[in-house]
This record gives sequence, C-alpha cells and structure tokens, in this order.
Amino acid sequence: MKRKANGKVKRATGELAGLTAIIVAMVLGAVLGLLYGRSMWLAGGGLKEEIARLEMTVAQKTERAKALEEKDPAEAARLRGHVPEIESRLAEVRQLQEQRSKEGVSKLALVAWEFTKFCGDLFLQSLRLMVVPLVVTSMICGIASLGDVRHIGRVGFLTVAYFLATTLVAVVIGIVLVTAIRPGVGADDTFAFVTKNVQSQEETTAIGTLLNVVRGAPDDPNSGMIPSNILAAGAEMNVLALIFFSLVFGGALTTLGDRGKVVIDFFDAANAAIMKMVHLVMWFAPMGIFGLVAFNIAKKGGGEAFAGEVTKLGKYVATVILGLVLQGVFLLVVLKLLGKRRPLEFVMHSAEALLTGLTTGSSSATLPLTIECTEEKNGVSGRIAGFVLPLGATVNMNGTALYEAVAAVFIAQSLGMTLTFGALLVIVLTATLAAIGAAGIPEAGLVTMVIVLTAVGLPITGIGLILAIDWFLDRLRTVNNIFGDMVGAAVVERYEAAPAR
Ligand code: ASP
Repeated sequence: MKRKANGKVKRATGELAGLTAIIVAMVLGAVLGLLYGRSMWLAGGGLKEEIARLEMTVAQKTERAKALEEKDPAEAARLRGHVPEIESRLAEVRQLQEQRSKEGVSKLALVAWEFTKFCGDLFLQSLRLMVVPLVVTSMICGIASLGDVRHIGRVGFLTVAYFLATTLVAVVIGIVLVTAIRPGVGADDTFAFVTKNVQSQEETTAIGTLLNVVRGAPDDPNSGMIPSNILAAGAEMNVLALIFFSLVFGGALTTLGDRGKVVIDFFDAANAAIMKMVHLVMWFAPMGIFGLVAFNIAKKGGGEAFAGEVTKLGKYVATVILGLVLQGVFLLVVLKLLGKRRPLEFVMHSAEALLTGLTTGSSSATLPLTIECTEEKNGVSGRIAGFVLPLGATVNMNGTALYEAVAAVFIAQSLGMTLTFGALLVIVLTATLAAIGAAGIPEAGLVTMVIVLTAVGLPITGIGLILAIDWFLDRLRTVNNIFGDMVGAAVVERYEAAPAR
C-alpha cells in the first residue's frame, strides 16, 4: 500500500519536473527568438527570402490586376496602386542585403540559427517517427479489444457525433465573434501574398475536398482514406489510410478466434514497446521545444517583425484567440458534465501534449504524446483512446474550424462585403468540411480554407491578408484541436458501456 502511494508521489513529482522543464525551455526559446531572432534570420538568409517574396507579390498583384481589368476596373486599379509601395520596400531590402553582404554574417547568429533548427528538427522527426507504428498498433489493439462489431459501431457513432457537435459549436463561436468584433473592416492588404499550395487548391470544391479525403487526390491514389497501396500511404504518412486499414484489419482479427489472438497479442506488445520509445523521446522534449520555439520565431524575422505583424492584424488575432479560449472553456464544460472528469486535473495531465502541439503546430506529430497523456496520465482506456485519438488527430479540428470561419468572414469584411445569413450558413458547413479535410500538419487549415472562400464567392487572394500571422495562430488552434480529441476520448469512454477485455 505504502509502496503504491510512494510510486504515485514519485510519478507526480517526475511529471511536474518534466512539465517545468518544458515550460522553462519554451520561455527560453521565446526569449532567444524574440530578442535575437532578427540576427539569426539575417544570418540564415532571411533577406534573400524576403526579396523573393516581395518580387512574387509584385508579380501576383500585376497579374491579378490584368485579369480584373475588364471585370472589375476599380479593384484592378486598387491592386496596381499597391505596387509602388511594395517596390519601395523591395528597394530598401535590396539595399540592406547589399550592405549585409559586405559586412558578412555573424558567426554566432548562424550557429544559433543552425543549432535551434537542428534541435527542433530532431524532436519533430523523432515524434513523427513514432506516428506510423503507433497509429497502426494502437488502432488494431483498440478495435480488437472493443470486440463485437456492434460495439465498434456504437463507439464509432459516439465519436463521430462528438466530433461533429464540437466542431459545429466551434464554427458558431467563431462566426458570432467575428461578426460582433468586425476585425476586417479597414484591414490593409498592400503586402498580401498567396503561396503556391493555396493557389493549387483554387479549383477544388467543398464536395471535391471531401471526396479527396476518401479517395485521395485524383493524381495521387495513396493520399486518401482508401489508398491503392498501404505501404506507399504509410510512407507518405497518410494517417487516415492507416487508420482505415488498421480498423478493418483489427476487426477481421477478432473474427479469427485463437489464430487471431496470436496476432492481436503481437500488436499489443508492439504497442507497449512503441509507447516506451515515446517516453524516451520525451527526454529530449525540452531541448526540442526550445529549438522549435526559437527557430520558428527567428524564421519569421524575430521579435520586431512579430510585433509588427501582430499590431497590423491585432483585432483579427484577438478575435481568433478569444474564440479559441471560449471554445476551450466549452470543452472544459463538456469534460466536466459529460465526461465527469475534473477539468483542472485533466488539463494538468494533458499539458505535455498541449505544449508540444503549441510548439510543433501539428496534431499528427503530437499524436504519440496525446496518446500517452490520455491513456497513462488521464487513465482513459487504450481501447477507446486507441480509436478516438488517431482519428481525432486527422479529422477532428475544433480550433481549425473556428479559425476557418473567423478568417473567411474577416476577409469578406476587409473587402467591404456583407455576408447574408445564407452565406454564413455556407461558411458553417464548409468550415466544418475544411477542418475535416485539413491534415494534422502545420498550416494545413490555411490551404483548405480555399474551399470556404470559393463556396461564398470570396477571392482566394484574401488569404494573403492573413498569411503573415498564420504560423502563430496555427500553433494556438492546434492546441484546441488536440484538446478536443482528448476530451472526446474521455467523453466517449464514459458513454460506451463495454466489458473490458
Ligand atoms: N496545424 C493544425 C493541426 O495540425 C491544422 C491546421 O489548422 O492547420 O492540427
């Protein structure tokens, strides 16, 4: 008895120490990035990148103005009007670049740039390394232990109902806030720039995106839920395909009696081994998180540039953050009322995963830790967590859905357009689809936002307006995405009354 209590205290102390180390690393990373980020950015060739981006912005504006010449001459003239300001900025940056190349780069800043990048990459890669085996083993074990197909159906139904309901609430919170605060009125889009992957989405419709989620992109048969080659899909880290395959495979194993049990036991042990490897990766978390935070801030030009972006889009940033906080509170209420859990304790036990989500900006890369925190720290059974979490990491994105809605209405406001009630309903629907369609990787939501914009007839160039700050908001919404999955696992567990294996 005493030994058990001692073990518990030891574990809690270890957990607290780990968490403290992560928070300290995050703060140190942020301080380095904010204060020294600009020097790191200069040493890492930031000016060259900025020149290229500004040149592309000029080309994009000119091209778009040309295309609109007949249809909308006023807009064409407005876009052309932006060009001189961009060109004057371009001249400034070129001059700075010339001056810099004479002075040479700071060795220290270059080392800081390389070192933080190395730490961040290594951590991210080690996490991603765990994802494929973890999804496969945890899904097969989860499904196998659910047993009866009817029971799998019940859990599946509860999970999908929870995902849809919370996503819809998120979108509605976003729409109400953005309509009330009106952050888009008067927003300046002089330097708005659209990336290639956003452009490539222009032809896709909402239904097309949903079909692509199932079948994959027409020219890439291994990118959807049902790929033509599971190994190729795994190699592309197509988590949804792995989930689907493992789900059916796990279900099939349960019908084989003793022969199936041998294989299930194999995957059970493999799952436990991978979880042990995840623990090892966690030893490296503080270093990795330090690197990710510092490098990501530096990559965007350091504190000065960040402050500039935030002030320019302050109201929009505040709206998204407020929405995410409200959605977070809603999830806590759901956790308390439906999951019958103690919210504060649950959050504390989820902190490692949430902070990793905040720094990686990727639900998929964080999945190993999400599973670890949900099963081992919050005590949700593996059979539910193994099913809900991998699925949630790819399709359940509360934060992304909220952000898609806010961003679309923001863009409409910036263009002086008033959206009708019908258009808002279309946004509700398409933002939900766009969140489902977004992969659990950094800034995926920005790309799928094209379907929301095209559905209500907004130009995709509007995305350029929010591009500069997206890396930051992406980190924040990823936290909500992950927390939504964790709460979902707790809620589904409470409502599925199944005999444990
Ligand atoms: N980065 C988000 C995630 O991985 C997706 C997005 O909103 O872009 O959950």
